[in-house]
Amino acid sequence: MPHDAHDHDDAHALLPSDPALRVKALETLLTEKGLIDPEALDEIIDTYENKIGPKNGAHVVARAWSDPVFKAALLADADPVLAEMGYYGRQGEHMVVVENTDTLHNMVVCTLCSCYPWPLLGIPPGWYKSDAYRARAVREPRKVLAEFGVTLPAETSVRVWDSTAEVRYLVLPRRPEGSEGLEEAALQDLVSRDSMIGCGLARTP
Ligand code: FE
Repeated sequence: MPHDAHDHDDAHALLPSDPALRVKALETLLTEKGLIDPEALDEIIDTYENKIGPKNGAHVVARAWSDPVFKAALLADADPVLAEMGYYGRQGEHMVVVENTDTLHNMVVCTLCSCYPWPLLGIPPGWYKSDAYRARAVREPRKVLAEFGVTLPAETSVRVWDSTAEVRYLVLPRRPEGSEGLEEAALQDLVSRDSMIGCGLARTP
């Protein structure tokens, strides 16, 4: 999604954006009241930004590309398979993995808010939470995909999955051409975060 958030009002340019300001105010207030520990908050943010992240999802995708038995189990019932790999926890309790094929492209949104599979993909990108993405992903998914640089053949169907607090989705992107001889570790590098949301394709080696 293109960014269109240029601040035209110079008077506000020195202040953080409205949501950032409100978050800061809330954090200050909660800290002063002794309800939160800012260090614990930093630790949580660091965990989801750096330790947990799209590389977990890429690990799952690369294994699915390499191992048909694993892939079948993952598509049939993802939770036990992911739990065994250690990818479970908050915001990832009920996972469904949907597979892209040459006739079907899957795309994930949360129209209500920003539900996202944290243990597999980390913290959602800003655009995933934007009003524009949430509204347009369901209304005009092909246009949105084109803006991400993904143009699909007309005969490929697009299926949009709406995440909820109950169910989160991971897209299993198509294995790119030219990746036939690659080991799992090399395959992981081809899997972008966006390809697992369905707003991108896996990279070609
Ligand atoms: Fe949500």
